[in-house]
Amino acid sequence: MSSVKATVHRVANFVGGQPFASPSPRTLPATNPTTGEIIAEVPMSTAAELDDAVVRAAEAQRGWGSTTVKDRVQVLFRMKALMEAQADQLAAIIIEENGKTREEALGSILRAVECVEFASSLPQLVSGGALEVSPGVECRTTQFPLGVVAGITPFNFPLMVPLWMIPTALACGNAFVLKPSEQTPLSALELARLFDEAGLPPGVFSVVNGDREVVEAICDHPGIKAIGFVGSTKVAQAVYRRGTSNFKRVRAMGGAKNHLVVVPDADPEMTATNVVASVTGCAGQRCMAAAVLVAVGEVDHIIERIRDKMAAIVAGRSMGPMISEEARRRVSGYIDRAGEANLLLDARGNVAEEAPDGGYFIGPSIVDGVDPSHEAACEEIFGPVLTILRCHTLEEALAIENNNPYGNAAAVYTSSGKVAQTFVERAGAGMIGVNIGVPVPREPFAFGGWYDSRFGEGDITGFGAIDFWSQSKKITSKWSDEHRSNWMS
Ligand code: NAD
Repeated sequence: MSSVKATVHRVANFVGGQPFASPSPRTLPATNPTTGEIIAEVPMSTAAELDDAVVRAAEAQRGWGSTTVKDRVQVLFRMKALMEAQADQLAAIIIEENGKTREEALGSILRAVECVEFASSLPQLVSGGALEVSPGVECRTTQFPLGVVAGITPFNFPLMVPLWMIPTALACGNAFVLKPSEQTPLSALELARLFDEAGLPPGVFSVVNGDREVVEAICDHPGIKAIGFVGSTKVAQAVYRRGTSNFKRVRAMGGAKNHLVVVPDADPEMTATNVVASVTGCAGQRCMAAAVLVAVGEVDHIIERIRDKMAAIVAGRSMGPMISEEARRRVSGYIDRAGEANLLLDARGNVAEEAPDGGYFIGPSIVDGVDPSHEAACEEIFGPVLTILRCHTLEEALAIENNNPYGNAAAVYTSSGKVAQTFVERAGAGMIGVNIGVPVPREPFAFGGWYDSRFGEGDITGFGAIDFWSQSKKITSKWSDEHRSNWMS
């Protein structure tokens, strides 16, 4: 049962450069996952409210899009400085609405700052090329904004994931409308406040809170030219289908089931420490978290260490909570249905005495002995649960990994360069780790999975994001007095 904090406030949207109270009668509560307290009422904005935000954004974009990219990134330089100076306050908001540990919250801010840094270098990245293609005839390329674009984001990284998209989209000259997760609405408003303080003109960045109604309105709105989505595969597919059927650009990142392959020559201590950190970091609520350990041959000595280390993890002390009571029940359901005989570890009860009673804490578990078609081996659980699948050869391990429909991340633990190289070449995922359990590519190496982990071409960060959030013009000019021409120009 959720209790209500004395000062629960209704979250505002952010439109036309200021907080704007949504008149929508429909709200959902956002809770602090550590205490179960309701911390905010989140308005479920209507399609008409989205339309109003897009109209204001379009007005603002006309001015913003006609400034130079060198001017636009000045805002991002100031944004980076503000985020660094206010990292503690930002972390406190992330902790309150998402339940991350302080270290995790600060880590996500650092990663977000890197995305701001990447976009700050846009003048260098889009300077384009020019070539004399015939005597006196020059071709050059210039990037142009799309107009108003939108982002729809999940609960698990309420600050970092929006900043995968926003800085590059803004530097390209677009106005950006963000629809944050209804479970974590506070970081988005803080971002709006910081962009305002950094000098972004009013209306260039907007926040519209809501659920399915607003998401569908974003997909349908003729004034929105491109959509970046990050969330579960089911919703990613729906957004991709609806947005592209309205002829928009859509890049939709979906869920994951990341496989870590452990071979007998892996370093036991490093592997165990690393695997456990990958499973339990952010309480398993990361699209990069380890979900399946594929044990090749005799690696029980490593699995024992993994079990011992996971058994020592206490939710509410060394690991944060689930985002909601519903999420905690969902994770627990997987463990119940796996059955006692298939549990190498059931530490669901490892919850710190000092953890608040209302928090959505659950300790870690290991499912072992199931086959690859078992739900624990193929569905995204999104909690601190590791499923072990056993096989005899690297060939079999690669077949198991490649048979899973997702393709976000995969990793191998080995001391053999040959095994590592084979895995890098043949694993079916967009982000590969060698002796690294959370192989998040740091900028400018782009973030993006394959298969059911992504719909639409390209990665969500890095160089591909520049192409996604802009369009290029190819200009061919001739200023010479000479009228002679050939069939090419
Ligand atoms: P979610 O799909 O439930 O929600 C994501 C967004 O979609 C939210 O803004 C939500 O309001 C909206 N939404 C939810 N249901 C909708 C519906 N029926 N119609 C329209 N919009 C809807 O995801 P979540 O639970 O917030 O986040 C966890 C998921 O996100 C996991 O599956 C995780 O793997 C995934 N994720 C993926 C990446 C990646 O880069 N691949 C990164 C982070 C999280």
